[in-house]
Amino acid sequence: MTVDWGHVFAGRVSGMSASEIRELLKLLNRPEIISFAGGIPDPDFFPSSAIAHAYQKVFQSNAGAGSALQYTISEGHTPLREWICTYMGKHGVQAGLDEVLVTSGSQQALDFIGKLLIGPGDLVVVTAPTYLGALQAFSPYEPRYISVPMDEEGPELAALEAALAEKPKFFYLVPDFQNPNGTTVSLARREALLDLCEKHGVPVVEDAAYTELRYDGEPLPPLVGLDAARHGGKPTNVIYCGSFSKTMVPAMRVGWVLATAEVVNRLVLMKQAADLHASTINQIILHDVVSQIFDSHVKTLRSHYKERRDAMLAALAEYAPPGVTWTKPQGGMFVWLELPEHVDGTQLLERAIKEANVAFVPGSAFFADRSGKNTIRMSFSATSPERIREGVRRICELLKRV
Ligand code: PMP
Repeated sequence: MTVDWGHVFAGRVSGMSASEIRELLKLLNRPEIISFAGGIPDPDFFPSSAIAHAYQKVFQSNAGAGSALQYTISEGHTPLREWICTYMGKHGVQAGLDEVLVTSGSQQALDFIGKLLIGPGDLVVVTAPTYLGALQAFSPYEPRYISVPMDEEGPELAALEAALAEKPKFFYLVPDFQNPNGTTVSLARREALLDLCEKHGVPVVEDAAYTELRYDGEPLPPLVGLDAARHGGKPTNVIYCGSFSKTMVPAMRVGWVLATAEVVNRLVLMKQAADLHASTINQIILHDVVSQIFDSHVKTLRSHYKERRDAMLAALAEYAPPGVTWTKPQGGMFVWLELPEHVDGTQLLERAIKEANVAFVPGSAFFADRSGKNTIRMSFSATSPERIREGVRRICELLKRV
């Protein structure tokens, strides 16, 4: 008898299905397509020579190579955690080594947070829209989501307060240049949402994947720093997820969680169970590279990506038909378009690929309740300014036809 796999899968995975857009996105390898779908860094800007040099140094001695290729502790490479503590200190958090865990990308941190905090049926508060990968990380733990709408300053407070009154396990958000809509939570809104979460005793999960990629305006303190300022400088109510994917390279798969030691201790146990530790050699290389070039490299990235953000906003201003509105992000990788009510983002994508050789991601994927049908996400990070202009022109021509 052959196995009926559908019958054998655990109940919690029954809700997990391949997204309908995946088939469409398979077509994106065709060179004639201008894709705003990815949301990935441009490989042309990777610090490849600094990385190559760091590898050479590791392999200069047998001892260096031996320890880089060996197992390491689950908490993460100690010099890298020290670097992270110093970095977080600049953001107002005095964290010790026992308050930092290195993860295999911040995506793994989201999975562990789900595993640590969510039981079947527990409530989790997210923004509408939110990061799709967070929904994918949390959903196998079978939460029920409460989606809080956003305005240009961040999550709407009345809706957040109502959600917190339902006693959720945590509130997850991306305060800076959110994936997908590019929104940044204002300082006043940061303080106000921390007030509300503290009042209701609900932890905040802060995803800071894009924080360093700011192109205009003053940097804002992270939620974890504002929370620490209220609690003697120590991480208290906020679990912070950091990543080197957007500032350095995603392929190393190195991110981190910073939280109170009580939380980090549990997460370390999860790390042991999942994969023992993040790659030793990648942590060593990354520590070397960030120690040398973090600030200068991020500065270079900002100037390249700013040019692209500006190219996308200028092309939209020139070509977008009436009835289309879009966000003007101060950083990150994404512009978010709201289309007239009757336009469906998924149907538009199908036509955009076939008729205009251009792609993006339909916005409904980023809503826990699958609303937002008339929204789309466009990433400007991996496309040259000239192609951005041409791609936006083509999408806008198509929009005029629908
Ligand atoms: N959070 C957000 C908001 C993201 O956009 C991403 C990557 N797309 C991640 C987390 C995960 O990044 P990584 O695992 O590479 O650190």
